[in-house]
Amino acid sequence: MATIWAHSGDSHVLEPDDLWLRRLPGDLAERAPRVVRDDEREIVYVDGTMVRRDPIAFSDANRPPGALDVALRIGDLDRQGIWGEAVFPSRGLWTTIIKDPVLARECIRAYNDWCADTVNAASDRLIGTAIVSMLDTDDAVGELQRAAGLGFRAVFMATTPPEGRGFNLELWEPLWAAAEEAGLPLCFHVGTGTDVKATRGPGGAVINYVETFFPGQRTVAHLVASGALDRHPDLKVFIAEGGAAWAPALADRMDEAYRQHGMFVRPVLSELPSSYIYRQVYTSFQHDRTAVTAVEAMGYDKVLWGSDYPHVEGTFPNTQAVLADLFDGVPDAVRRRVTLETFEELFSFPAGAPGEG
Ligand code: MN
Repeated sequence: MATIWAHSGDSHVLEPDDLWLRRLPGDLAERAPRVVRDDEREIVYVDGTMVRRDPIAFSDANRPPGALDVALRIGDLDRQGIWGEAVFPSRGLWTTIIKDPVLARECIRAYNDWCADTVNAASDRLIGTAIVSMLDTDDAVGELQRAAGLGFRAVFMATTPPEGRGFNLELWEPLWAAAEEAGLPLCFHVGTGTDVKATRGPGGAVINYVETFFPGQRTVAHLVASGALDRHPDLKVFIAEGGAAWAPALADRMDEAYRQHGMFVRPVLSELPSSYIYRQVYTSFQHDRTAVTAVEAMGYDKVLWGSDYPHVEGTFPNTQAVLADLFDGVPDAVRRRVTLETFEELFSFPAGAPGEG
């Protein structure tokens, strides 16, 4: 079987243990996200509070050597048939639940400096995503502009905003304008911005995984209904790792509300909500069969595939088998759209991949 080459819209780097310890003054370094291991558990602390405990075996399964070492990472990509890659943080994801704006701002700056030097500088194939503050719009705008100056081509945000900072609110407007102006897509990664509120009992593992994908849909509803995407037609947003086939369904739901409840609708939009979703909202999936159907049968063509490397939710080390299965019997044009072209469009990435026919 010939290799199916793909770009991955959703992957992660694993930061070194001492990233913040080395880069921040002592008082802030102590409160930065920190991972402590004992014989049984890996425990994450953020600003002195325990936020997560995982069995060691689970943590290690998420940690092939290439997660930490960029040179090894490129080898993994080559063997998996992955060319370009959008690279999200791992420990940096925890910055989205910090409650102190100064701590958040400084952790984020340190992460972005490290990411620029380590990820972006290593290869043109890697698109590190800059973090911005979820707590303070001025900080977020300043960091977005600084990141653009450092050469970043994408920005990571959480799908759950802090209390009182819903994505439909005017207070975010300067960030939407800055992202549009800089030409940087806002990449909202699922499962971020909130403490894990675990459902216990029967079905918990599956229920809790499902819970992580609803906030991405809520983010899109807020950005579209509030007119953010209407006011900023060149702003692109991306919901990473949340699947894709919900997007056309959400578009239908929003159009129905907009039309049938029109007397209550504020603000009035220039077009139906679905227009913004089909034009400006990108989504990514790993295994979902329906994601390919959304492109082929529903005409929603903003779908990226993502490996989620190095996470166990993803396709490593079985990427080629997954891609062969996903695209069996699918027209080449649809496959190319999902595996390559949507990524190239979103991240202004050079077309094609070597070895890809
Ligand atoms: Mn991911």
